[in-house]
Amino acid sequence: MRIAIIDYEKCKPESCGKECEGFCPRVRAGDETVKFAENGKPVIDEESCIGCGLCAKKCPRNAVQIVNTPEQLEEKPLHRFGKNGFALFRLPFPVKGEVVGLLGQNGLGKSSALKILTGSIRLERDREGLVRMFRGTELQDYLEKMFSQKLKTVLKPQMLFSNGPFLSKRAKSAGGKTVCEVLQESDEKGMMKEVAEALELRPCLDGRIETLSGGELQRLAIASAALKKSDVYYFDEPSSFLDVRQRMNAAKLIRKLAQDAAVMVVEHDLSSLDFLADKIHIFYGEPGCYGIVSKPYGVRAGINAFLDGFIRGDNVRIHEPVDFSFSKGAEQVERYIEYPGLKKTLGEFSLSVSAGQIMRKEVIGVFGANGLGKTTFARILAGEIKPDAGETGGISISYKPQYLSSNFDGTVSELLESSIRLSEDFKSSVLRPLGLDRLFESSVRKLSGGEMQRLAIAVCLGKDADLFLLDEPSAYLDSMQRMVAAKIIGRAAEKTAAVVIDHDLLFLNCISCRAMLFTGEPGKSGFAKQLNLAEGMNEFLKSLGITFRKDEETGRPRANKPGSQKDAEQKAKGNYFLG
Ligand code: SF4
Ligand code: SF4
Repeated sequence: MRIAIIDYEKCKPESCGKECEGFCPRVRAGDETVKFAENGKPVIDEESCIGCGLCAKKCPRNAVQIVNTPEQLEEKPLHRFGKNGFALFRLPFPVKGEVVGLLGQNGLGKSSALKILTGSIRLERDREGLVRMFRGTELQDYLEKMFSQKLKTVLKPQMLFSNGPFLSKRAKSAGGKTVCEVLQESDEKGMMKEVAEALELRPCLDGRIETLSGGELQRLAIASAALKKSDVYYFDEPSSFLDVRQRMNAAKLIRKLAQDAAVMVVEHDLSSLDFLADKIHIFYGEPGCYGIVSKPYGVRAGINAFLDGFIRGDNVRIHEPVDFSFSKGAEQVERYIEYPGLKKTLGEFSLSVSAGQIMRKEVIGVFGANGLGKTTFARILAGEIKPDAGETGGISISYKPQYLSSNFDGTVSELLESSIRLSEDFKSSVLRPLGLDRLFESSVRKLSGGEMQRLAIAVCLGKDADLFLLDEPSAYLDSMQRMVAAKIIGRAAEKTAAVVIDHDLLFLNCISCRAMLFTGEPGKSGFAKQLNLAEGMNEFLKSLGITFRKDEETGRPRANKPGSQKDAEQKAKGNYFLG
């Protein structure tokens, strides 16, 4: 099947030569493969299109994509988002008593699938047609009950923020209320105390919604969904903005919900997903064009199939296997940057950092809960904050901050040209793998969180500096983009060195040569010291009470399910990481 996608935001017929129509061989032969609708925008007829791709090549605004779905795919799309819009094939299905995970790149329809399953997207097929389509499958019963309102669903949406500190409409509408009031309104189970405790929301119960940090708002949204009575719970990216301990606490709570309901979760942090899910559907296809939902896999087999890039059930290769052999700073013998013990007090919070050094070519992974001063340390190194004791300076640092925002009034290529030197090597080794070449003409102000993150990583790595310092580079990125970002940061560090603060353990494990561990009491005191990676991981995981083993097939670290035999064995030996 051929799919023609037109991005109507980019398409500007009034300022182009209508090349999509003019160059189309079918139009030249006299038929109406490309027609202009009453609103002045083009429409491509996929039946008569021969897939030559000239319209996509010639469109000056990069607004057209012509793609073929895999040969093996026999069915029609479940839903098209407009005539030349995104096509979704198949649906995942929730199962009572299980947590079903959805895994795949951004732009493949995971969030849309959740909206379809909660009835918040109107499908082009009529209800009877849809139920007929799934006759004899698990979804038939689900859809019939949903349409006749015999099934209650709750959705924790993906977007709590839009581009940094701006609250979504949903959160804004709750503005003025306190966390406690929002939880009370949601509390259909009478379990507010336990849920607030489990998600560590007690210290901010009196806080007003509009003053919450990203992590607090995320935990409130999870709590509020969990407190409602429902047959099926949907969580769209519950780990964004949470540190590792908070991710695991949220995962435990979400798993509990599956004791007497069905739960479905979209998640990009593979360690969290591994810990959380029983089964996995993989979404594959062409981001922004079409998405196909695989059959369900067991969690281990599903994550491994995703990393291997081969969907056996559909006999389709979706990408090359992910290679875990990351370059980790070769010898790391040359002392490159040294810093003394540092102290800083900010209001009620005090930070103490032991003296340390960064070797040439190495990446230091920074581990620790939120509120322990990781970003303060980064800002001291970057020269944005002066320490009370200890001196830093004399080194130039290229810093990517945690929260991203830009008032730049121009396109991605204009921003890149004005901030860094764009060599051909940089374009091919950084911009292209990050997919930024496809965004050159996009307005910076209109970028999504993931696009903005990729741009911020590129700008950081494109500067001449002694040290790259990246705060939460994996936020907003999907699992594949995280692996690409890890490789690119690792490669950039080969010329100098890098410090990376993050909460995705697989990402940190892939990228880090050594660890810097932050401990203490969030919001009150933070202590930081350097360790080798295995020691750092072990100490960090011990503080969380979580164990990881090595997956035999891929070598990736896998979270053990709490209370499992492997978990107990590793804890008894004090071996929390890869025991
Ligand atoms: S798709 Fe491209 S060529 Fe066609 S009208 Fe739109 S901007 Fe012009
Ligand atoms: S792919 Fe070729 S045939 Fe199809 S609409 Fe574009 S130019 Fe016409």
